[in-house]
Amino acid sequence: MLERTLRPSPISPTVDFSAEGVQHGFLRLPYSRDDSAWGSVMTPLTVVKNGDGPTALLTGGNHGDEYEGPIALFDLARTLKAEDVTGRVIIVPAMNYPAFAAGTRTSPVDKGNMNRSFPGAPDGTVTQKIADYFQRVLLPLADIVLDFHSGGRTLDFLPFCAAHVLPDKMQEAKAFDLVSAFGAPWSMKMLEIDAVGMYDTAAEEMGKVFVTTELGGGGTATAKSAGIAKRGVANVLKAAGILKGAVVSSETTWLDMPDGDCFSVALDGGMIEPLFDLGDRVQKGDVVARIYPLGRTGVEPEEVKAKMDGILAARHFPGLVKPGDCVSVLAVAVE
Ligand code: CA
Repeated sequence: MLERTLRPSPISPTVDFSAEGVQHGFLRLPYSRDDSAWGSVMTPLTVVKNGDGPTALLTGGNHGDEYEGPIALFDLARTLKAEDVTGRVIIVPAMNYPAFAAGTRTSPVDKGNMNRSFPGAPDGTVTQKIADYFQRVLLPLADIVLDFHSGGRTLDFLPFCAAHVLPDKMQEAKAFDLVSAFGAPWSMKMLEIDAVGMYDTAAEEMGKVFVTTELGGGGTATAKSAGIAKRGVANVLKAAGILKGAVVSSETTWLDMPDGDCFSVALDGGMIEPLFDLGDRVQKGDVVARIYPLGRTGVEPEEVKAKMDGILAARHFPGLVKPGDCVSVLAVAVE
């Protein structure tokens, strides 16, 4: 394969990843623009290191309108003490910082979707430059990677931690062990419909033990979902032997997404009437939701039907849908 020689990343960290103790700082990316000629994107991060041991890389705000991860990670960053750590914890609560600061899924700077931007490019857009820094600097430092997601403004999920089915069964088993340790109410064997360019794929192809979450959605967090995130990240660090203390175990139900029949998509736009709620059992052929046209009465709504038996694991969030929007995701309980 022909390897292109990449220029160094334009991002400089204000912390030393090899230094002992707690450091709070930034990843500084020069970004010249109208309101700041020699300005920068300043992505906050915390590094906590104590002696030799594994490194955990913890990220939230990969999508900027998902809040459980940033809440758990800003909290962890201000409370984690070096003496409670063996090894190193790198915490980036808002990976796509411009998107997080704007409260949007993608970056307002370049419309970049961080989770479709890997491996990134050092000479690309702002989002591609951040992705490249994770690809070539941060991921290689890590042994385990936890990337928090939720549904954002347009989806709502059952709270679950997840890992992917992988060709390397050893790597897969380690990831599912961490999913178990996380201890969300639901645990998912996840199928991606669009895996190209994902941070997940980048980490997994590097052989890292990668886990992710979907913990709610609608562009906000709840006390319950934030609590699940905070307990989960501590549990993952404990299970990896990085944080002192025992895993706080809790009941979880394992779910599987066997194939593309999990997903139902709107063909018409309009107002959505949900006929099932998250966690409900649905049978193949059931109408999961109706979509009413907006402009006239007496017209039959589109019926969105389940293509399989399952549990409603995700649903469209706002009251209006457009053609092509994801209406529902079903998953199957694994015994
Ligand atoms: Ca997401």
